[in-house]
Amino acid sequence: MTGQSYDFIVVGGGLAGAAISYYLTLQKQSVLLLEARTLCSGSSGACAGRAQIFESESESYLDLVLAGFSKLESLGPELGCDLEWETPGHLSLIRDAENWETCSQKVSWLKRRNVPAELLSQDQLRKEVPILKAESFLGAAFAHEGHLSPFHLCMGYLNAARRQGAKIRIDSPVTGFQRTSGRVTGVCTPENTYSGAQVIVAGGAWTRELLAMTGFELPVCFTHAEAMITEKLPPILSHHIGMTGFYDVVHGGNQSVTLGLGQHLNGTVLISNAIQNSTEIDQNSTFWGMPALARALKQYFPIFEGVRIMRTWAAPSPFLPDYAPAIGWVPGIDNLFVAAGFHLAVPTIPLFCEDIAKSVGIGRLVERLIPFSPQRFGVGIQEEA
Ligand SMILES: Cc1cc2nc3c(=O)[nH]c(=O)nc-3n(C[C@H](O)[C@H](O)[C@H](O)COP(=O)(O)OP(=O)(O)OC[C@H]3O[C@@H](n4cnc5c(N)ncnc54)[C@H](O)[C@@H]3O)c2cc1C
Repeated sequence: MTGQSYDFIVVGGGLAGAAISYYLTLQKQSVLLLEARTLCSGSSGACAGRAQIFESESESYLDLVLAGFSKLESLGPELGCDLEWETPGHLSLIRDAENWETCSQKVSWLKRRNVPAELLSQDQLRKEVPILKAESFLGAAFAHEGHLSPFHLCMGYLNAARRQGAKIRIDSPVTGFQRTSGRVTGVCTPENTYSGAQVIVAGGAWTRELLAMTGFELPVCFTHAEAMITEKLPPILSHHIGMTGFYDVVHGGNQSVTLGLGQHLNGTVLISNAIQNSTEIDQNSTFWGMPALARALKQYFPIFEGVRIMRTWAAPSPFLPDYAPAIGWVPGIDNLFVAAGFHLAVPTIPLFCEDIAKSVGIGRLVERLIPFSPQRFGVGIQEEA
């Protein structure tokens, strides 16, 4: 056991672990963050950076998303870095009458909250996106939306946390937890065992295996999601564009493509997602995914024929079976907290992680987090024999 004890040990150096560490250091807590590999190397390093609003499935979740979204504009100056924040808006392409109905309902939710949103006919869509084969769609729903660099956000949080005293250890995979009397007393890595008054597991898709080390089964699921990025191109897209029914497609079939495109400020176009159901974490691009994504792109945006692809990547995209995050104390272990399975991660992480730092400070979940407690998935854990 190392001599020093921390107020908090945070496990995982992705967006969630980074943001939690930052908000804890704002409260003058001492923090040690342990990351198995390099910082932002999990799902956060694969993220397309969309601060999605339109994909909120319920009005109550939309309100949380909007509350988080409103923090993003001032977050770069707060963290002292350029997040490459912009608000290009999003066009959800509508294929059929059922999609139209769902989109029309979401547009009315947004309008009621004074968020810019409207339905576009096929003709309006053609004028808005001349490079799209608009005849393949009934029209589209436009909604306000933002975009940032997930690397800048993650490193912005981590650098600010470090400036405020947090210690960050990379290449430090957590391999076990020592427990006594319903508490974690040590967090083990191959090199050291660390002690902290409270431990927060923010391991994304790896959270299930991390918590299994304590005996708690949190049903964190994930899909294998693939994306790619083009060479720099002249401005061709002024909005993010995506197919409707993203989550239906993602969670419905075994292998599917749901096209999403956005042009970055530097001219590159990020194209996602080839999705595959998966039970094993694998961060390799697949033989089916990239060709399938390229075919879908060419079908709807012929202009991309011959454009060079600079990089492809893949990562698990984590979620809980009810598509709500798991945030709260692990039942049966007083000082072990989990924060994983963020749905619409970019807009919600700043909100939820600030709430997490408040909650662990006062020893109970703030009201907004109560519905997300992992207690909904199980009862207490038996003490180790
Ligand atoms: C292709 C793709 C595109 C996406 N696009 C978007 C988007 O546009 N907008 C959006 O909001 N969301 C998007 N997402 C989802 C979003 O990226 C994730 O929800 C989010 O990054 C999860 O952050 P996290 O910190 O919880 O997990 P992660 O970023 O995965 O962080 C977990 C960390 O824990 C570390 N770890 C694992 N095991 C251990 C261990 N034993 N010890 C120590 N550390 C460990 C991992 O190495 C990892 O760094 C996308 C996901 C994918 C895959």
